[in-house]
Amino acid sequence: MICLRCGSCCIHLDVAVANPDCILADGSLDPRRPDSLIFKPSGSVCPHLQFEDGLAVCRIHHLSCYSGTPCDQFEQIGREDDVCVMGGYFRTL
Ligand code: SF4
Ligand code: SF4
Repeated sequence: MICLRCGSCCIHLDVAVANPDCILADGSLDPRRPDSLIFKPSGSVCPHLQFEDGLAVCRIHHLSCYSGTPCDQFEQIGREDDVCVMGGYFRTL
């Protein structure tokens, strides 16, 4: 799936994300914290989302705390080189 970097899924989906307060200096999650994942509800902007030149950027995408999260594992139906269809759906809301 080709992401158009609209940021809509980081706003409109219910998803569990890394708790910003639990990310260690090396980019991993603090294993001692039971709240290392937090629930981001639909309609709430993810605390890791920022926009640069109009394009969505995930601040933690390159960190180890992102690995294995629902965002990391997210896939859409369709071919690998299909443009994301979900963003178009969100634009109709
Ligand atoms: S963690 Fe990153 S990819 Fe996941 S919702 Fe937040 S900004 Fe989007
Ligand atoms: S809705 Fe689709 S195009 Fe927009 S940021 Fe999410 S994956 Fe990318």
